Amino acid sequence: MTVHTSDVVVLGGGSGGYATALRARELDLSVTLIERDRVGGTCLHRGCVPTKALLHTAEVADTVRHAAAAGVAASLEGVDGPAALAWRQKIVDGKFRGLTSLLAARGVQVVTGSGSLTRHDGVPAVRVGDDLYAGRHVVLATGASTRALPGVEFSARVLDAERALSRAEIPERAVVIGGGVIGVEFASAWRSLGTEVTIVEAQDTLIAGEEAASQSALAKAFTRRGIDLRLGARVAGVVDGDGGVVVSVEREGVGEDLSADVVLVAVGRAPSTAGLGFEEAGISLTRGFVDVDPELRTGAEGVWAVGDIVAGPQLAHRGFRHGIAVAERIAGRRTAPLDDALVPRVTYSSPEVASVGLTERAAIEIHGADAIASTEVSLAGNAKSEIVAAGSPARPGFAKVVRLAGGPVLGVHLVGERVGELITEGQLAVAWEAHPEDIAPLVHAHPTQSEALGEAFLALAGSPLHTM
Ligand code: NAD
Repeated sequence: MTVHTSDVVVLGGGSGGYATALRARELDLSVTLIERDRVGGTCLHRGCVPTKALLHTAEVADTVRHAAAAGVAASLEGVDGPAALAWRQKIVDGKFRGLTSLLAARGVQVVTGSGSLTRHDGVPAVRVGDDLYAGRHVVLATGASTRALPGVEFSARVLDAERALSRAEIPERAVVIGGGVIGVEFASAWRSLGTEVTIVEAQDTLIAGEEAASQSALAKAFTRRGIDLRLGARVAGVVDGDGGVVVSVEREGVGEDLSADVVLVAVGRAPSTAGLGFEEAGISLTRGFVDVDPELRTGAEGVWAVGDIVAGPQLAHRGFRHGIAVAERIAGRRTAPLDDALVPRVTYSSPEVASVGLTERAAIEIHGADAIASTEVSLAGNAKSEIVAAGSPARPGFAKVVRLAGGPVLGVHLVGERVGELITEGQLAVAWEAHPEDIAPLVHAHPTQSEALGEAFLALAGSPLHTM
């Protein structure tokens, strides 16, 4: 057994883990980063990055399809699945090379191998084969993996997001089980690429947890785009047979068989915390998630947890923030805990859905209906929104702002093409507890989609310009 020592040992090289490592090196701590696969993790290799590339291929197809609306004669001859796959892989490979170089340039020691948590000489350590990596601190960043449906095996036709992303062929008919973020993004992309798509969702709405107005706007837009929705539906069985896959669903006591050439299972992601020595090392888990204090310390001395293994929104940018904060705390800085409500959320479908802070319903539950005011500004009157949505069958979206009456902005909710880029302004407003009156005098460039947010702030401050 060879023992190696460093100030910080990070287990897992995804968004949370590599952010911890980079920030810890900036703060002059020695760092060993242990990764069993490739640094960058799910987000870079199997999640956020290739999915957004797939969605961009879909957007380009839609742009060509609707080109006549903007005065360009073009016709969509088809989508080259292998070329689209090669393109998204090229993007991933480039970002992977960049990250590998950055880690090397910062002096992070990257170890390839599968690690498990243990203790050595009174300090936490990670064992990788016959090597033991002991640190004053160990940061757990092992991420999450696809939840399977009980009794349903993955195959060449029963896919999770990773399998779906690595397929070159574009399905003719797809059933998407789960109308959360992953299900909605794939349904959107495949529909744009010509697939007949049905989403089966157990709850009565898509994108549970989002603002009710956003949920219904997305459902309407998807229906107009020809995506079939089976909401409030239970999956009774999935049969992967010779001629395709059949998903049996049950809704309000009525059964239905849906046939498809592929099925995407997108029913959530489970934290990767089993079999890694966590509990043996004194760490308690709740439903598989690591129990932490607000500063992300686990119950085991010197052991921290970041990212998707900590209960809360499973988002790469939350993992980055966790990693930065933990590295700073290890270096002796006082970094404030992250409030999950301040983490912006973007669903990159067509239309996009973006939000930060509280939904109107949550704000009312906390503060009471009389204490909450909100306004919703349609993008129908926004020139830039109409231009970028040229020819899209989806209706214009909106910008909705929720505030405490006489107080700060509590939540911002957006639906529309490319509105994800606007959420940063909402985040600043919510996180800085700005009052609409503070923001109303600020000028929004014309014509931009951000004017809709500006109008919402004006309206809540009592001085609407374009709305009643
Ligand atoms: P999710 O939890 O967002 O949605 C899963 C959905 O599946 C839920 O609506 C649930 O009701 C439904 N469901 C569960 N079991 C079902 C069943 N048997 N039949 C029908 N429906 C069922 O999970 P996800 O979409 O798999 O995403 C996983 C995580 O990854 C989420 O935390 C998500 O935020 C994150 N993610 C984020 C982005 C983004 O930010 N753009 C993109 C992809 C994934």
